[in-house]
Amino acid sequence: MSRRGFLTAATVVGGGLVLAGCSNSDSSAVKDLQRRLKGQVLVPADPKFAEANLPANDRYESVIPMAIALCATPEDVQTCVRWCVEEGVQPVVRGGGHNYIGASTTTGLLIKTGAMNEVSVDAKVGTVTLGAGALNADLLSALRGGALMLPIGTCPSVGVAGLVLGGGIGDNSRWAAMTCDHLESTTLVLANGETVEASDTANPDLFWALRGAAGGNFGINTSLTFRLVEIPKPRITVFGMAFSGKDAMVAGWSAFDRLMLSAPNQLSGFAAVTNVRPLGADNKPAARYAAPFPTLTIDGSYQGTQEEAREVLAPVINIRATDLIMGELDYWDAQINWLAVGDMPKHGLEECSRFTSEPIPTDRLAQLIDRVLAAPGGTEDANAEVRLMCWSGGQVNQVAPDAMAYVHRSGNHLLRPAVWWRNQPPSMQRDLLDWTADTFAFISGFTQPGSFQNWPYSEQKDWQQAYYGTNFDRLRQVKQRYDPRNLFHYAQSIPV
Ligand SMILES: Cc1cc2nc3c(=O)[nH]c(=O)nc-3n(C[C@H](O)[C@H](O)[C@H](O)COP(=O)(O)OP(=O)(O)OC[C@H]3O[C@@H](n4cnc5c(N)ncnc54)[C@H](O)[C@@H]3O)c2cc1C
Repeated sequence: MSRRGFLTAATVVGGGLVLAGCSNSDSSAVKDLQRRLKGQVLVPADPKFAEANLPANDRYESVIPMAIALCATPEDVQTCVRWCVEEGVQPVVRGGGHNYIGASTTTGLLIKTGAMNEVSVDAKVGTVTLGAGALNADLLSALRGGALMLPIGTCPSVGVAGLVLGGGIGDNSRWAAMTCDHLESTTLVLANGETVEASDTANPDLFWALRGAAGGNFGINTSLTFRLVEIPKPRITVFGMAFSGKDAMVAGWSAFDRLMLSAPNQLSGFAAVTNVRPLGADNKPAARYAAPFPTLTIDGSYQGTQEEAREVLAPVINIRATDLIMGELDYWDAQINWLAVGDMPKHGLEECSRFTSEPIPTDRLAQLIDRVLAAPGGTEDANAEVRLMCWSGGQVNQVAPDAMAYVHRSGNHLLRPAVWWRNQPPSMQRDLLDWTADTFAFISGFTQPGSFQNWPYSEQKDWQQAYYGTNFDRLRQVKQRYDPRNLFHYAQSIPV
């Protein structure tokens, strides 16, 4: 198909633009793209192609793009979008590559932004501007040691663009709000190839949508500017504790759930039960804690002194908590060396979530523990867990649900079953995915209807309402205005 012919021939059918024409073998078009870019274009024959294509989630490794554009500049991104429209190829952007449902994989053109990872802090004005490919780790390195922070998530290799577009919660959100609450402006390339600004004053409807709609819906953001938050205390308290034996696990979990529904905003944390069994038999210590398996662990932070933290956490600590670790750390040490998720070997994973805002009945918690312990796997290489992430509430709920696309402003906790695997036969993956589906159905029976769009779940049937609630219709209108041909689409993207 000729470039000129594409725009008139393309039609919107079902979920997206029908893209045809340019194929892997159409190397003249790809060579043309390479000529127009400052960055490099990789094709499948290139020795670096296979590695460059690997997403963070092993589950989507088999999706092979026709080419990969390693963009070096915002102009490169614009050129890629224009080229895709001209050639009838699907453009898909990837930052950190962590999307759970394969939304940053494609058989079309994979647009990688990793080289555009510049971070520029203006401490005087109190802002930070990031390139499209900046990761949480890049942002932390640039801010480390200073008096200003941005509330982000806890995984250093997650892309900040992907994070903020779906909201962005983390251990600091209860006192400092969400990542999207601090976005001041962003530049993006739209489906028509134009580069525009979005802020409260420029394209405000688009700006509204970008803060919570999730990535890959309205265009490709090439730069993002955030207002930074002053760090109230140079030192904070971090803590961890464990509960062993089912009765203590249920009691500790329930006490933490109840405490966090009314705790001061300075307190944050999560409770986790996992079926990673220690080598040998049960009753041996599980990883990281000395408490014998099975164990419920609780980890988090308090923006204040150790004495204050101990007092606030007393209702939980007093329930037979073992392995209590508590200490004051420099704010940045706490973020980077305690709260951040450590590097994991590459793996496949799936997660799902539901918000809760009332105490979870203890019999449900007991059933959840039983489910985790009976889950398939049970090794470091194939296992399941359930976490109660107490990162919402507080300042997160001080913003109106229709102020921006991120709608979840009344839920306090996220109940999150998850599975992961590494080098496993397909049957084990299938069993773990079945476990997730079954456990998701179970938790949906006693939680709120909302789910977190940054942890999209591939089997979720009610995702439109669950991720976006009352904001979904407005999101469709914005989509209609800025991407009427549905150029940017994936399994759970905002439809036209
Ligand atoms: C281990 C792990 C830990 C996590 N921890 C947290 C957490 O603490 N808090 C939290 O809120 N979330 C967390 N998440 C979820 C994470 O924030 C989202 O999955 C996020 O979308 C990932 O962004 P990415 O750039 O890494 O992924 P990608 O797969 O590259 O991108 C995610 C989506 O955004 C699109 N996108 C990427 N870049 C752009 C761009 N420049 N413009 C427009 N669209 C773009 C992609 O096409 C894709 O649809 C975690 C995920 C994992 C796997």
